[in-house]
Amino acid sequence: MERIKSAVDKHREKMIKVLDFMWDNPESGFREWKANSLMIEEFEKLGYDLVKAENIPGFYTVIDTGKPGPTVLVMGELDALSCPSHFHANPETGMAHACGHNAQSASLLGVAAALKEPGILDGLCGKIKLCSVPAEETGELEFRAQLKKDGIIKEISGKREFISRGYFDDCDIAFLVHTLPVDYYSVDGKAVGVVAKKATYKGVASHAGANPHKGKNALYAATQGLAAINSIRETFQEKDYIRVHPIITEGGGAVNTIPDRVTIESYVRGLNHDALKDANDRVNRALCGSAVSLGCEIEIEDMAGSSPLIENEDFANLAGEAIKMLKPDAKFYFFNKIDTGSTDMGDVSCLMPVIHPYIPGASGRGHGKDYEISDPDTACCMSAKWQIMIIRLLLENEAVRAMKIIDEFEPRFSNRVEYLAAHDSLSSSGDRVFYGENGKITIDI
Ligand SMILES: [Zn+2]
Ligand SMILES: [Zn+2]
Repeated sequence: MERIKSAVDKHREKMIKVLDFMWDNPESGFREWKANSLMIEEFEKLGYDLVKAENIPGFYTVIDTGKPGPTVLVMGELDALSCPSHFHANPETGMAHACGHNAQSASLLGVAAALKEPGILDGLCGKIKLCSVPAEETGELEFRAQLKKDGIIKEISGKREFISRGYFDDCDIAFLVHTLPVDYYSVDGKAVGVVAKKATYKGVASHAGANPHKGKNALYAATQGLAAINSIRETFQEKDYIRVHPIITEGGGAVNTIPDRVTIESYVRGLNHDALKDANDRVNRALCGSAVSLGCEIEIEDMAGSSPLIENEDFANLAGEAIKMLKPDAKFYFFNKIDTGSTDMGDVSCLMPVIHPYIPGASGRGHGKDYEISDPDTACCMSAKWQIMIIRLLLENEAVRAMKIIDEFEPRFSNRVEYLAAHDSLSSSGDRVFYGENGKITIDI
């Protein structure tokens, strides 16, 4: 125990360097080149061989104990998020580290450094994969769509992209520690998955006063669409935690012209893939039916985002034990609640047992203008110690505890190919309503 503490504390300066550098250089997803270079430099200084993602930021390294056993995946995120009102936002890009990913990268480096200290790996078996991962936050969807078009990425979030590249194929169990403005340590339990939707109603413009009968009003079709979504809300089942929250982002140009183009954006959230697919189909049917009622066309672009997160309860309890060993007065909770935000840790949880624990050390409001890492000793140093203690509890005694969790885990998909096919089936784009001969109308939801 004391050995772990001093092994981490010895590298405090390195961690603070990363923490402060990323704080001062916030970068958006898939553009975290500065943070990536510093992390690579620091890992290589420690003597690690890295597998770099190369055309996007991010890398991993594998530490082999030399004894057979499972592989534990430990991650740290690189990206900042768009928060122009943040007190330390980049004035040009509006990016800020308002989710504490700078502390994640700092603590990942702390873990890497401490694992090189004598005795820290003693008694462990299996492998530890340390991974610096880009693009957790959603944002700049057009930029990511372009990266996809250019063949640079296949998936629009970092962990899902790493899954699709096969980087996690050899991993058996995974975790990532997030920093919160709280005074306790915790694991939530679950979080919903998400489909991002853009629906464009296309009507016919006409003079709104002189000849509205010659137009097709895309705004009325869209407002009907919003009403239709409200009408189907009672068909969503509580157990599925469906959330649909549309807004109109483009609502017409001039008051004396019948609007011919109106755009709705929405997320559809849900707790499992089947429920998400079902709810998304219902929403699309509501939107398309409303287009038909006004004789309008509609184009819908659905982009599947993070998958539902399901955290492993035994693993969560192990994390609770780990923090109590380091800090007996620490408060730890496994809330077993459903978080209605989303994270791409959910994608990893489709394939292996995971936890996404929270550690104190921040202040302000998450994603808010005042968020900051106010206690780096907790957010970085204690985080690294906790992570090493979790690794130890998993991999000591022939990895008996890791193996129990892994053996009892029932993956939602048997491999990444099956998983990505299910995930990608939630994405589609194109026109949905087709007006044929003899009044025949075809709808493709
Ligand atoms: Zn975050
Ligand atoms: Zn966040």
